[in-house]
Amino acid sequence: MAEKEYDIVIVGGGPGGLTAGLYGSRANMKTVLIEKYMPGGQIANTEEVEDYPGFEHISGSELAMKMTEHAKKFGLEIVSDEVTEVYCDGDDRIVTTASGDIYRAKAVILSTGGSPNKLNVPGEQEFTGKGVSYCAICDGNFFKDQVIAMAGGGDAAVEEAMYLTKFGSKVIIIHRRDQLRAQKVIQDRAFRNPKLEFIWDTIIETVNGDDKVKSLGLKNVKTGEKSILDVGAIFVFIGFVPNSNIVRETLDKDAGGYILTNSHMQTSVKGIYACGDVRAQLVRQITNAVGDGTTAAMASEKYIESLHDKSS
Ligand code: NAP
Repeated sequence: MAEKEYDIVIVGGGPGGLTAGLYGSRANMKTVLIEKYMPGGQIANTEEVEDYPGFEHISGSELAMKMTEHAKKFGLEIVSDEVTEVYCDGDDRIVTTASGDIYRAKAVILSTGGSPNKLNVPGEQEFTGKGVSYCAICDGNFFKDQVIAMAGGGDAAVEEAMYLTKFGSKVIIIHRRDQLRAQKVIQDRAFRNPKLEFIWDTIIETVNGDDKVKSLGLKNVKTGEKSILDVGAIFVFIGFVPNSNIVRETLDKDAGGYILTNSHMQTSVKGIYACGDVRAQLVRQITNAVGDGTTAAMASEKYIESLHDKSS
């Protein structure tokens, strides 16, 4: 257990956090980023990124690696640990971690992203890792030549379903409405994919199997008709919940638990900033996170300077 002092502590190593780290270090702020897994956040598990300017096609893991290396070149320190709590001690912001370390900083940037939503139906938990998955890149390969189901109708569900057509004999998107939420450009590609099928207006009521997933219990929400669909796997991409609960002080949030910030990415608690998917905003893209991270780091720098001015 050690107590360490920094100007800025960044919690979470997705694109927002890594960008904040790059800008913070480049501005000569003593900056550390704490991430419990590998840096990269959700993009580390994304097969292909095609909407990040300057890269027509790049794998998510490669983009994550490039961002990490770039930030490190400017002096960003990256620590592998889990942040357990953030709280205020006068003008200091304290960050505690699972390994027992304590970080004392002037500003904290929350870049904690979110966790996947669950269907919350019988069998989902029991068969997680046995045919229920929340990561196509991690698990797609296990279901070669099998029928794969995908729950959801947003960008993530449709993109990951297309990726899974590399493995499955076919991939069936099961969506609770009759229209996808995904962007039109992604929909158009999906409708052209011969290995993708759609079941509309339908919810998954049960996940069934023995030692692994064998079928899904479905219900058409318009007709009420119930059916059984034989599948080898079900991937769930139905949005996510923000990881916004590590700050002891009460932060203003929206109804979904996303942290509210002003245009400087400042939360309702001075010296605590938020960027990327944990922040309330219209869209959650890599580009947004990167912009947020830039603003959060520059605003932190100005805030820290104002503290120095106050004390001198
Ligand atoms: P999302 O856009 O919130 O979509 C969630 C989908 O899951 C919706 O279609 C929703 O249905 C469905 N859903 C939610 N709860 C459900 C439930 N309990 N049962 C069944 N279906 C349920 O989430 P996302 O696709 O994870 O995307 C999150 C953000 O990341 C978005 O801003 C997205 O644009 C971004 N993203 C972008 C890309 C890209 O390539 N540019 C890739 C991935 C993600 P309804 O439509 O009926 O609400």
